[in-house]
Amino acid sequence: MSPLKDVLPSVGDKVLYVFNDSETTQNMRHSDKATLHVPDLVSVQQFCSQGEDAEDCGVCVRCGQRKQSFWEDPVRDMLTYLCKPRPWAKKIVAIAHNAKAFDLHIILNRAIMLKWKPN
Ligand SMILES: [Zn+2]
Repeated sequence: MSPLKDVLPSVGDKVLYVFNDSETTQNMRHSDKATLHVPDLVSVQQFCSQGEDAEDCGVCVRCGQRKQSFWEDPVRDMLTYLCKPRPWAKKIVAIAHNAKAFDLHIILNRAIMLKWKPN
């Protein structure tokens, strides 16, 4: 894995960059001393080399809506969104905002569950 460079992608770049952030509740009891983080909102912002001029809330001619939020089953819906067919894209780079500790476990756990119990 290479570090992110401080340059915009070239126009011919066929990569979709998706940044995600999640909010969780902590009401569900896991044990006597611990609660479980349950995601109740996942938001994504995305861009590609064609959408530099699109407004933050706008629509890119190539990759579509710049911002989206997922509420119902937010991690599943984000993973489904990331996996949807995009014939123009050679690669999708997903970057979690401030990911640490539980954030990435939630995504990995849900991805594993979807692998074994696809909806
Ligand atoms: Zn785009």
